[in-house]
Amino acid sequence: MIQRIDHLGIAVKSLAEAVPYYEKALGLKCEHIEEVVSQKVKTAFFACGDVHIELLEPTDPESPIAKFLEKNPAGGVHHVAFATDAIEAQLGQAAAAGVRLIHEKPFDGAGGKQVAFLHPKSTFGVLTEFCMPKPGAAGH
Ligand code: ZN
Repeated sequence: MIQRIDHLGIAVKSLAEAVPYYEKALGLKCEHIEEVVSQKVKTAFFACGDVHIELLEPTDPESPIAKFLEKNPAGGVHHVAFATDAIEAQLGQAAAAGVRLIHEKPFDGAGGKQVAFLHPKSTFGVLTEFCMPKPGAAGH
């Protein structure tokens, strides 16, 4: 079951440039920075109440975030992530409802979580992530 919005993923060209905005202009605290090699991104997490902001900087021209920035040079909201307590069942429910999955199976994302994405062509233009803490992981 979906429990809440876990985080908003925001594509930026440079964490070094974007992090000070979130810290100084908004007063949020950068909790940690982590590279997700499989997704070719470096991420920075800020707590904002129960929801996190996940900044995503591409580490490679083939990164999905690099492609997003080609189309959206200023950066912008890249995905919405929902926390679920059963990610495989959540993917199954979406697939049964006719939604196209980008990932049939969850994989290891940032923050010690299992993640999987739904295709924006099936979700009214919003790249949608499901995420679930891995058993035993503290996560966000
Ligand atoms: Zn995310």
